[in-house]
Amino acid sequence: MSSVEKINPHQSAGTLGHYINGRQIEDRQRLLDVTNPANGQIVRQVAAASVSTVADAVSSAKAAFPAWRDTPPLKRARVMFKFKELLEKNAKDIVALITEEHGKVLDDAMGEFIRGVEVIEYACGAPEILKGEHSKNVGPAIDSWSEKQALGVVAGITPFNFPAMVPMWMYPMAIACGNAFILKPSEKDPSAPLMIAELFTEAGLPDGIFNVLNGDKEAVDALLEHEDIKAISFVGSTPIAEYIYAAGTANGKRVQALGGAKNHAIVMPDADMNNAVSAIMGAAYGSCGERCMAISVAVCVGDSVADELVARLSERVENLKIGPGTDTTNEMGPLVSKPHYDKVRSYVDLGVDEGATLVVDGRSLSVSGHEEGYFLGGCLFDHVKPEMRIYQEEIFGPVLCVVRTDSMEHAMQLINEHEYGNGTCIFTRDGGIARYFTDNIQVGMVGVNVPLPVPTAFHSFGGWKRSLFGDLSAYGPDSVRFYTQRKTVTQRWPDDTVEKAQFAFPVNR
Ligand code: NAD
Repeated sequence: MSSVEKINPHQSAGTLGHYINGRQIEDRQRLLDVTNPANGQIVRQVAAASVSTVADAVSSAKAAFPAWRDTPPLKRARVMFKFKELLEKNAKDIVALITEEHGKVLDDAMGEFIRGVEVIEYACGAPEILKGEHSKNVGPAIDSWSEKQALGVVAGITPFNFPAMVPMWMYPMAIACGNAFILKPSEKDPSAPLMIAELFTEAGLPDGIFNVLNGDKEAVDALLEHEDIKAISFVGSTPIAEYIYAAGTANGKRVQALGGAKNHAIVMPDADMNNAVSAIMGAAYGSCGERCMAISVAVCVGDSVADELVARLSERVENLKIGPGTDTTNEMGPLVSKPHYDKVRSYVDLGVDEGATLVVDGRSLSVSGHEEGYFLGGCLFDHVKPEMRIYQEEIFGPVLCVVRTDSMEHAMQLINEHEYGNGTCIFTRDGGIARYFTDNIQVGMVGVNVPLPVPTAFHSFGGWKRSLFGDLSAYGPDSVRFYTQRKTVTQRWPDDTVEKAQFAFPVNR
């Protein structure tokens, strides 16, 4: 392995390695293709880390950790402030890389970038966030306090759908808390994290505190098995989340593993339909439906609500502007890869076979000049039934299922009985209904007249049921709990009033 040139975001080809100990590392042992989904062309290749490369990254992170742990939180925060400034200066280049490799439209890529940077803004509050708790005189001349100590080397494994934002849910807070971090991003869109890692070094982060290891299952398994990794944050599909949680905890690590979703929106008869239609359009088809908080099911209470929603949505879905994400007039780009395109398309075929009504069929879409791209038009199903697989399974594409029901209770029962519990929302003008819904729905993130209730950086992000394995959510206050361990100290300085030995349990009598 050797050090290589800085990443050039405008290069059209090349090979990406890793970022270890403050520099780019070349690695050509095993390479994976990175594709531009708008034209199906391979734009570059990315290294797949071996067990020994993982060991190199962990050992440099371990060596860097003690000095960073002992760096005052205020100084750590100053690095974060500088990092944020550099990110904003380089935003356009980072966002261009996201669009090139993921396919989402530039505006949407900028949106994820800004939401990610908000977590860095929260991490800038490290001195406040890490304050401990102190009690004076818990006994005669005895004081006690609790402090939050960093864990050591921690790792994050992230999905393709938010190549900048989801890693930012993890490493800024882990690093602000005094840990060293190893990121294993998605192999489908690895460029943005590598470019960001360079900016972190430029901001003054010591070498070895933030490392990016590219690769696939081999790298992930090596992280899961490495005894010096103290905690693992994962975001991705539910089967892999479950695997990561089981393997990581079996190896004695702290694990949070966020999984897939099937997010329902309930539309009540009293809803503001203009708001509901616009909100559901954006939430179902934005980013081509490749969001863990995408709305993939609309549950309409009453046939007249369903008739109106389907009529108004179908007109909008048919007229979606679809094309390469680099054209800023487009509303939706391609799906991320050919296998994913085939999978989503096969769900549309399945829905037809299962007897749902395909009101808008996007399967025949071809984008002129981009015939090799992975473009699927928006699809809209009506009369979807809970026993259908298109209702039960995560499709992760531009496919919205409309389910008709006759009561809010039944709509809520559907949501509560679904295996996933990531996000949900209700459209209504009735405050009492909204309150009943937020109190009783079995889902982690809930919106009222808001379709994508993604918590802001100073709250925490996490679903319920099979959308999250582990006890703590991502970013916000939960991330401080996840990336630190509590230590409680009880202290008496010796003086000349030393008591004689007591054999009973110490209490204040
Ligand atoms: P994925 O589970 O295929 O991959 C996620 C990560 O795990 C990647 O880094 C990948 O390299 C790695 N991985 C894949 N297979 C593995 C295996 N067998 N063993 C070990 N590691 C493996 O997910 P994806 O397709 O990249 O992302 C889409 C999924 O992520 C969707 O299910 C979506 O709902 C979910 N997601 C969830 C959230 C959330 O917050 N709950 C957020 C974003 C995405």
